[in-house]
Amino acid sequence: MTRRTKILATLGPATDDPAVLKRLLMAGVDVVRLNYSHGKAADHARRAAAVRAVAHELGYDIGILADLQGPKIRIESFADGPVELIEGAAFALDTAHPSDAGTVDIVGCAYPELPSDTAAGDILLLNDGAITLRVTAVTGTRIDTVVVLGGTLSNRKGINKQGGGLSAAALTDKDREDLVHAISIGADFIAVSFPRSAADMDEARALMIAAGGSAALVSKIERAEALPNLDEIIAASDVVMVARGDLGVEIGDAELPGWQKKIIAASREANRMVITATQMMESMIVNPIPTRAEVLDVANAVMDGTDAVMLSAETATGRWPVKTIEAMARVCVGAERSMPQKERARRTLGRHFERVDEAVAMATTWTAQHMHAKAIVALTESGSTALMVSRTDTTIPVYALTRHERTRRKMALCRGVYPVAFDPSVSDAMLAEREAIESLKYRKVINPGDRVLLTRGDLTGALGGTNSMKIVTVV
Ligand code: PGA
Ligand code: MN
Repeated sequence: MTRRTKILATLGPATDDPAVLKRLLMAGVDVVRLNYSHGKAADHARRAAAVRAVAHELGYDIGILADLQGPKIRIESFADGPVELIEGAAFALDTAHPSDAGTVDIVGCAYPELPSDTAAGDILLLNDGAITLRVTAVTGTRIDTVVVLGGTLSNRKGINKQGGGLSAAALTDKDREDLVHAISIGADFIAVSFPRSAADMDEARALMIAAGGSAALVSKIERAEALPNLDEIIAASDVVMVARGDLGVEIGDAELPGWQKKIIAASREANRMVITATQMMESMIVNPIPTRAEVLDVANAVMDGTDAVMLSAETATGRWPVKTIEAMARVCVGAERSMPQKERARRTLGRHFERVDEAVAMATTWTAQHMHAKAIVALTESGSTALMVSRTDTTIPVYALTRHERTRRKMALCRGVYPVAFDPSVSDAMLAEREAIESLKYRKVINPGDRVLLTRGDLTGALGGTNSMKIVTVV
């Protein structure tokens, strides 16, 4: 079973047992997520080390994604535990209220701009939309509301405004510290939460470079304000995440499916990788099998063209982390199998290319598809050629051969691309190609008689220099 869509799984208490972690990776996790919204830096460091150890033992290239908390706006805490908000009751948020003294009438909020970002008539959504408040008045630091949809409200739940407009900058002081920490533990991907614009991503990239990092930057599309700036945010990112949890709260569920499709298509068009996240297998937090709706949701994301599907609490704190991965892997493979042979390569043939490697990628897919090649082999430094080939939507497996561990871990997220460690022992390009083919033959991914397409640059070892494609029959 070769699965093209990749699986990104969040680590947490439910995956801390080394035996569970090992089974998780064996069941098909390609990239793990460390969620900096929960736990301490030391927990993330410990989990990263455990993943590296198990991956090494298994001989897998597993990417690590550090997800920064971002400026999630939250209520403060209640004096005597959770409160029950009743529909029609009055409830106030006050940025000057003591942080640990919430009651059924009022609670604090540490975001000082909340009153200026809010006006009478606004709808505030608490706890991912489980509780809805309508603002009746704003006076000084206090926001008076009436409960529209009631329920239990506990400490530090998130606040969103319907339609967006809570304008906190994307990187908090904690995020800056966490970013440096994530670099120090060797994260391959860093996810920026709630970016509003390309400038937020540029700022994160500058910080990352200053910290000596070379991770791929992930923009989480999860606030309404990001949508008008989608193209510039994608351009400033290496990877994009359809962060459906917060995005769904801000734009409403009616708008969400359309935006998922738009974000995936726009990311692929810009030669970026894209992740679809949140509640994909939500019921598996407690149940050993997914609902039909979840099966269809994962399958639809696969059909939309996502690179990866993500799990949050299902694996981090759920009862069935391994079964969840198995179910997700199964659904991905089934969805891929049922997809009609894509005509996309044909459509993109009319495109004008500025980049040489993009043109080579298209020619490679076209030829491989028409000659029924068994594999596409990209001798790559940064992984960009393998990514470009993957963006053409070919169903032929792409082997990204590289000596760089970092490149292999980044390509672990890329749909249809399989990273392979390869360091040619010779500098002669022809001999290196032969070694590459031999190494894949040895791994039994290709066999004598197979036709294989190979891409490379003039100088093995030069970055971004892919300028040729070669057709090889394996002997
Ligand atoms: P989160 O991001 O899980 O960090 O909130 C994903 C989402 O909002 O969907
Ligand atoms: Mn989110």
